[in-house]
Amino acid sequence: MNVIFFGPPAAGKGTQAKIIQERYGLQQLSTGDMLREEVASGSDLGRKAKLIMDRGELVSDEIVIEMIAKRIDSPECAKGVIFDGFPRTVAQAEALQEMLSKRGQAIDIVMELDVDQDRIIERMEKRAAEEERSDDNIEALKKRLQQYNDYSAQVLPHYRSRGNVPVIDGNQQVEGVTAQIEEVLQVKLPS
Ligand code: ADP
Repeated sequence: MNVIFFGPPAAGKGTQAKIIQERYGLQQLSTGDMLREEVASGSDLGRKAKLIMDRGELVSDEIVIEMIAKRIDSPECAKGVIFDGFPRTVAQAEALQEMLSKRGQAIDIVMELDVDQDRIIERMEKRAAEEERSDDNIEALKKRLQQYNDYSAQVLPHYRSRGNVPVIDGNQQVEGVTAQIEEVLQVKLPS
């Protein structure tokens, strides 16, 4: 089963993806994490990506599509994938669909994690204080939120026109959010 967690920065996609990965064996693929690994490794790609990420802008479709393509056939993805932070553009969504259909697969569920803007800013500020991400400065945070508002206006209608996109209330505590996600997954999971 392949699932997309769609939602603003700091909505808790990564936290929830890790819980669902643990419980159901679906593999979290986070393009943000993959990019941060590239940055940490000091690769050419990492150096280029860092400049873009630190500004809160999107790295190119080509780069993220390539990163996903490299991972999708690995054994840990055999039971399915939770796409976290990908796709962020319609071009990425189309590339993903093509990749999956070549493998006789599809996206089974797209979920939107909805979080109030004030709360997003609160959480981003908290995370900035706790973790040392170079893109968690106030300018980059604002830019990422603005980017989200822009790209979600393209990507969400793309998926909504193809099926139901259940909305998860991401304002709740971690367990409350997980429970809502599980409820949506139960419909599709083999019992
Ligand atoms: P957040 O959701 O908190 O913004 P992520 O870890 O998902 O953080 O992403 C961090 C940065 O990595 C983004 O601001 C962007 O520069 C880059 N990035 C991650 N995923 C994508 C993607 N699918 N397309 C383009 N850029 C991406």
